Amino acid sequence: MPGIMQTYNRYPVSFVSGQGSYLEDENGRQYLDALSGIAVCGLGHANPAVAKAIESQASTLLHTSNLYGIPLQEALAERLCAVSGMDSVFFCNSGAESNEAALKLARRFGNEKGIENPAVITMEGSFHGRTLGTLAATGNTKIQAGFEPLLDGFVPVPYDDVGAVEALASKENSVVAILVEPILGEGGVRIPSEDYLSRLREISDSFKWLLMLDEVQTGNGRTGKYFAFQHTSIQPDVVTTAKGLANGVPIGACLARGEAASTLVPGTHATTFGGNPLACAAAIATFDQLTDGVIDQAAETGARILSGLKASLQGSNKVKDIRGKGMMVAVELYESCTELVLEAMERGLLINVAADSVIRLLPPLNLSAEDADKVVQIVTGLVLERM
Ligand SMILES: *Cc1c(COP(=O)(O)O)cnc(C)c1O
Repeated sequence: MPGIMQTYNRYPVSFVSGQGSYLEDENGRQYLDALSGIAVCGLGHANPAVAKAIESQASTLLHTSNLYGIPLQEALAERLCAVSGMDSVFFCNSGAESNEAALKLARRFGNEKGIENPAVITMEGSFHGRTLGTLAATGNTKIQAGFEPLLDGFVPVPYDDVGAVEALASKENSVVAILVEPILGEGGVRIPSEDYLSRLREISDSFKWLLMLDEVQTGNGRTGKYFAFQHTSIQPDVVTTAKGLANGVPIGACLARGEAASTLVPGTHATTFGGNPLACAAAIATFDQLTDGVIDQAAETGARILSGLKASLQGSNKVKDIRGKGMMVAVELYESCTELVLEAMERGLLINVAADSVIRLLPPLNLSAEDADKVVQIVTGLVLERM
């Protein structure tokens, strides 16, 4: 049958509209959305200010070209730099593309310094995208299988293992950068040791490597700070983001600082659509609403979900761990539990299972306390009633 290429096993539901933290299917049934399109719609569905910005930009100017000035792109870059302490931004259309930009930046950074075959340290269990470059950087052989030969120039080490990075530093002189997620997202919401990023920062400083953070999922308020690295006192050289940046309009960004901010010069990287007026208008309308108030509220509501789940599930012999940061919350079971996604749907809740056994919750940042309690209640029921 002609149709969509079958790259997804889709759930038997289609949504036709949304409002805030709720989605409605073809039969008029409402679902509480604790996934937000995988950390994309941080301000909920049909956000009025984002809708208005899209509408008015669509009837003004959708697209020109990066051959010309794009004032909305400049304005968005200024805001992102101001909130993050970074110096320059390359806009693109997705998370994978933002990481491609970072990887190209790292290679050029190394080549300019005369380092032969520059390599990037990556993490086992990580996820960076599905393009050939980001696939090779991704630390998951299941995702890579069938796409060999993989791109060269990546050195994977275990996540949250500073010793493994130090060991490499003493024997690999082609390393130019570390690419790391502040919290593993697809890898199962793994939160590293408190000092992990600062130790990686120290090593990067002593070997003149770039510390590149993949905040495609953790950025834009998701963990209770604008960027997850802002829970620490470090400053990265490169940060990538995408998912929550424009509340559902495709856009990605690669931010850089210091020497890295000017590594990509005219002719070295480009994009037709990246950072076009429509995407930037939506991102600015999103950014303007991601105030400290909203992000602090996300931190509080996330903590409420986390403590609710701990109160109801800690001690259950099915539960291995309950963890989270802001609106990125996980319940890890001892066994594979992918069937819970459909069972949750039957109870009117949208969740996700990552790494086979980790219930992952990524609700809208502005979820109400009442809906947060509903998420806790339904997830608790799913876990405790599980065979
Ligand atoms: C989703 C994700 C990506 C890939 O983003 P796409 O927009 O699907 O290309 C990369 N890195 C992380 C950490 C992600 O969560």
